[in-house]
Amino acid sequence: MNRVMEAVLEYFNVILVRYGEIGVKGVGTRRRMEGLLVKALKEALESFKVKGKIEVSEGRIFIWEPEDVEAAVKAAARVFGVKSLSPAYATEFAGLEDLVARASEFFSEKVKGKVFRVRARRVGLHSFTSKDVERALGAKLLELGASKVNLENPEYTAYVEIRGRRLFLYDKIHEGPRGLPLGSEEPVLVLFSGGFDSTVASWTLMKRGCPVHLVHYDLGFPETVKVALEAAKFLSDNWSYGHRMKMYIVNFKGAALIVNGLVSPPYRTLVMRKLMVKHAESLAEKLGIEALATGESISQVASQTIRNIHLIERNTKLPILRPLAGMDKDEIIKISMKIGAYEINKKQIEVCGLAATPTPKGRLGRFEKELDKASDIIVPDPIEVDLKNSSLKEALEKLGLL
Ligand code: ATP
Ligand code: MG
Repeated sequence: MNRVMEAVLEYFNVILVRYGEIGVKGVGTRRRMEGLLVKALKEALESFKVKGKIEVSEGRIFIWEPEDVEAAVKAAARVFGVKSLSPAYATEFAGLEDLVARASEFFSEKVKGKVFRVRARRVGLHSFTSKDVERALGAKLLELGASKVNLENPEYTAYVEIRGRRLFLYDKIHEGPRGLPLGSEEPVLVLFSGGFDSTVASWTLMKRGCPVHLVHYDLGFPETVKVALEAAKFLSDNWSYGHRMKMYIVNFKGAALIVNGLVSPPYRTLVMRKLMVKHAESLAEKLGIEALATGESISQVASQTIRNIHLIERNTKLPILRPLAGMDKDEIIKISMKIGAYEINKKQIEVCGLAATPTPKGRLGRFEKELDKASDIIVPDPIEVDLKNSSLKEALEKLGLL
């Protein structure tokens, strides 16, 4: 094969973007979600400095003529709502014979000597079925030097997608994050420490379409605040296309002093957590946010038993979401690795600022008495950081940490 031909065959002029759940929504919801998805995709492509034209058509999004295919795939794989992606060669065809000729030209070299299968999909009215395409193209590729067909366990799959007169040819399917586009749900305020759990919890909620904002309680350890900010900036820079994430840093040093000084040791963590939840609730109400979230996982530590979760949540009006409730720590760490946050998360040392192990089974009467002791803590207004529009350095400066 000459080099010009090779260049043509390696040429992908479009990226097919598949979206899962949006496809099964009613028309209005679907349009709105497609709009959000396109907005997020545009932002992601811009952030990866890739130009390309976006088209929405019949349950697919097409990124036409992406300048840098690899970068475009990376960018789109960071957009919630995207189920999978395939760089493809798109052309038009006239009839089955022409289709087989074009497809075999594209696939013949790639499939040479290999055990393969053809997978065809078809949308529109045609005089042939997808099965006809699979059979005809399969036979042609065998003629051109493919080794043999194996439908279950092939070395190579030649994908053919037919939409009206358009023909799309590809051989790779890259996984997207799935879920729903950011902004398709209401915002959530996450109690954010910057450790594995609250980072993965935030990501998991974003995956379901919730634009999150973060609140961090500074108990007096500058290193901890720095890592929390770094983790927040990571989520904002890499996973929040289509959303402008804010972080609120609350000076809770006074609260820590009072709790450490007055509250009995087995109840310190529980009281501290309760104070955080109360404060977060009033902050959420000011911001017009309707739910809180934490990175708690049932029984991961003594403060996260069902009994203690109940004590901490009692009398709270807003729902507290716990997306990691049923996950093991190693599952959570795996997600942190997958989304690229591991190196930052692992730096977050476990300082709760409270030199005491909590009781796994707090008692209500006692808890309320202990909580009363910290009833008049004074908390300064939070410092707001616009994560998208400020660098890490600027944010650290604003917090007086640089
Ligand atoms: P993480 O990995 O998120 O740090 P953890 O396993 O260390 O969680 P805890 O320290 O018991 O668990 O905290 C439980 C949850 O409480 C955290 O996931 C987070 O949502 C919230 N939280 C804890 N500390 C803070 C803090 N300083 N500021 C804001 N939220 C916090
Ligand atoms: Mg922690």
